[in-house]
Amino acid sequence: MGGRVPSQADVVVIGAGAFGLSTAYFLAREGAGRVVVLDRYAPRSQTSPRAAGLFKLIQGDELRTRLARLAIDTVLGFSEETGAPLPVERSGSLLIARTEAHAALILREAEQSRRWGVELELVAATEVCRLAPYVEPDEIRAACWIPGDVYIEEPASLLEAYQEGAAKRGAAVCGHVPVTGIRVRAGEVAGVVTPSGKIAAPVVVDAAGAWAREVGRLAGAEVPIVPMRHQLYITDPVLGMQPSYPIARIIDVAVYVRPARGGIMLGGFESDPLPLDPAGRDESFSMDDVPLDFAVLERLTGQVERTVPDLRRVGVQEHRGGLFTMTADGLFLVGPVPGVRGLWTLTGCNGSGFSFSPALGRLLAEWIVHGEPSLDIRALSPGRFSRQLSEDDLVAAAVWQYTHYYSPEGLELEA
Ligand SMILES: Cc1cc2nc3c(=O)[nH]c(=O)nc-3n(C[C@H](O)[C@H](O)[C@H](O)COP(=O)(O)OP(=O)(O)OC[C@H]3O[C@@H](n4cnc5c(N)ncnc54)[C@H](O)[C@@H]3O)c2cc1C
Repeated sequence: MGGRVPSQADVVVIGAGAFGLSTAYFLAREGAGRVVVLDRYAPRSQTSPRAAGLFKLIQGDELRTRLARLAIDTVLGFSEETGAPLPVERSGSLLIARTEAHAALILREAEQSRRWGVELELVAATEVCRLAPYVEPDEIRAACWIPGDVYIEEPASLLEAYQEGAAKRGAAVCGHVPVTGIRVRAGEVAGVVTPSGKIAAPVVVDAAGAWAREVGRLAGAEVPIVPMRHQLYITDPVLGMQPSYPIARIIDVAVYVRPARGGIMLGGFESDPLPLDPAGRDESFSMDDVPLDFAVLERLTGQVERTVPDLRRVGVQEHRGGLFTMTADGLFLVGPVPGVRGLWTLTGCNGSGFSFSPALGRLLAEWIVHGEPSLDIRALSPGRFSRQLSEDDLVAAAVWQYTHYYSPEGLELEA
């Protein structure tokens, strides 16, 4: 258990992952007063450090495109702003399709993203291989080059930078302090309860990742997310692999690959994903207990082995996974939680919380401190759901969103 916690704060943030730490940094920067972040485990230890670290400018709508732009601009300027080291690899990325239907999808997405201001270029298969020499051209039907995409090699580095930046501006981050209660008086947040003491606070942010629904319920509020497993692996070093080579997303099978630690990282979206709610598990459940299943990644590897043959030539140095927080409509949950004044949330990552955290943490902090965010994100607020789905319908909708990560129009994955 952590030591005693302060008895008062202006804002308590629950969760020291990408969402909570980004929010804390920007709250402190925007002048929110005493900001305290609590985590039930060590800060930066749950889903966020397990991410692939990819950022993606091509998005399904204009709002998320603007958020993605803001997020990339923010991480590129973060070291200069905070003095915290944060290496960002400006690799660019390739969207690759190997079926006619997915090729048509790339053309539509390219056209719409260009309208929304994304710099991109449709490229031939030979050009794909020039840009990304680890990719073979034979099966490629269409490809799009997005030079502005980036990745962060070790996701922990962004989390450390947030925490360092937040600490420099006076925020406190306390690990091993689980929030066990949220005090609500006359419909308003009054503070939180922990085994290390109570903290009186008029504002509480639920950024508890896979536990966000459970934490919302401590205040009698509904935060409708479905935690779902996601995995990746990193191969042993591959001769000639360069960190500057682009990310490649092979959308017909929803697989992404990128250079990693001298080898190749592969992750992807299976068609039968595993929902897994910590609420139904032992109280000590953590990301270390998520059951990893290499067979899922083995299957995905088989689907791309002719496009990325090096995956089969070397061994695997790391296999990791954690829990996405999916929502019924595939959009983030960010903003005030209906029914409890002073309770805010930032969750519903839908697989992109690491990369959007710089933008969403900043906008949420502005919303809390100044009454409105500098970019209108009300469309993402939890109040958008006019009715509560049944549990079965919520899980089914969340699974649909997971399996259509690269094809929001509903195009099915290739078997
Ligand atoms: C394998 C994998 C690859 C991914 N790749 C990418 C990617 O390339 N790009 C991208 O954008 N996203 C990616 N993601 C998604 C990304 O990791 C998540 O969206 C992001 O980490 C979510 O951050 P979070 O802060 O919500 O969760 P977390 O990092 O899990 O943080 C939540 C914190 O809340 C704490 N908490 C919970 N309950 C309590 C409580 N009662 N009291 C106190 N603390 C509590 C937890 O201990 C935890 O530390 C990936 C995810 C996985 C699993």
